Amino acid sequence: MNAVLLESALTCPYCGFVSRETMPTDACLFYYECRPCKTLLRPKAGDCCVFCSYGSVKCPPIQEQHACCGSPFDS
Ligand SMILES: [Zn+2]
Repeated sequence: MNAVLLESALTCPYCGFVSRETMPTDACLFYYECRPCKTLLRPKAGDCCVFCSYGSVKCPPIQEQHACCGSPFDS
């Protein structure tokens, strides 16, 4: 059994608003609009989705290690 976490707390880097979001398991969320400040968040360079850049938990494909575009954990 894998223990992939599907809920991540996204923190907006501009206003600090934290939003708990449920992540899709089969897709990467590339754009996310912060509700209070309306900033459109995009992944940082090297990250595949906004959860990897701003979330408390990285996206399911990264957690499962079959990363969609390169795993940051290379061990
Ligand atoms: Zn914000």
